[in-house]
Amino acid sequence: MPNPQLKEIVVISGKGGTGKTSITCALAHLAKNTVFCDLDVDVPDMHIILDPKPQKTEAFMGGNKAIIQQELCVACGTCQELCHFAAITEDAGRFTVDHALCEGCGVCFALCPQKAISFPEALCGHWSVSDTRFGPFVHALLKPGEENSGKLVSLLKKEARALAKELGYTTLLCDGSPGIGCPVVSSLAGASLALAVVEPSLSGQHDFQRVAGVCAHFQIPVAVIINRYDLNCQGSEALEALCQKEGYPLFGKIPFSPELQEASQKGLAITELKGTLADNLAQIWERIERFQPRARSQLRSLQATRPS
Ligand code: SF4
Ligand code: SF4
Repeated sequence: MPNPQLKEIVVISGKGGTGKTSITCALAHLAKNTVFCDLDVDVPDMHIILDPKPQKTEAFMGGNKAIIQQELCVACGTCQELCHFAAITEDAGRFTVDHALCEGCGVCFALCPQKAISFPEALCGHWSVSDTRFGPFVHALLKPGEENSGKLVSLLKKEARALAKELGYTTLLCDGSPGIGCPVVSSLAGASLALAVVEPSLSGQHDFQRVAGVCAHFQIPVAVIINRYDLNCQGSEALEALCQKEGYPLFGKIPFSPELQEASQKGLAITELKGTLADNLAQIWERIERFQPRARSQLRSLQATRPS
């Protein structure tokens, strides 16, 4: 359960490639008494900048995988016929499961006439609690091709909340998953603020509206950062107008700058270099710290009055 004393900020984007992680790392550099968490578990990359030193690492057991017990199998071929994912192959009368293709549906396990198939939980990856130069960091690495990322996101959030409570920290800053699928819904669960990083293009606006719709459904306040706003000033103005119309606070507009590339090449957060972007992000962090989300009841009435 989320702790009402803990401010949970989840940085989101309607799609990948908006600069969400670079901005999250910069905010992590500016934050105090904060636990950081990389919930973008399908493509985690906060660790590239945060350079974590793991203090605890544990296995993440996810979905089940079928295993044929050869001593019980009579090579009838039923499982191969039933598998919709072509995960069961036969070689010289020996049936085996290709775990890269097995989707864990359990059909073969349920219908093997010899009960020759076991269906244990599988190792999907590892998660860690690490020290970084900015503060404690909870993160994970899935094995290639593994799913169950919504379940892993929930696990990471639970661990990050417990760590914040143990340390007496008041803020949890998360890099959320992009898009609007299961992992982003898990990322947003219990958040006090969704901070959307948006590109000033028509598709960027469209992606933002979809993810803002998910936030509205869960009654999570949304604030906006327009990234690389000067690459499309017209698109940026359209986004600002949308924010004003829909009541999304605009926390900042970040210009395109080679400072970002310079920081990435040095393995630093943008704010660790002095410059325009660092000043810009410092102002954004001040706004985040000052932001008091509306009571959920107020949000509900705001949504009820919003034109569809
Ligand atoms: S259905 Fe069972 S017995 Fe038949 S081939 Fe598959 S594992 Fe072997
Ligand atoms: S669990 Fe489902 S996907 Fe995996 S091998 Fe069995 S039938 Fe195929």
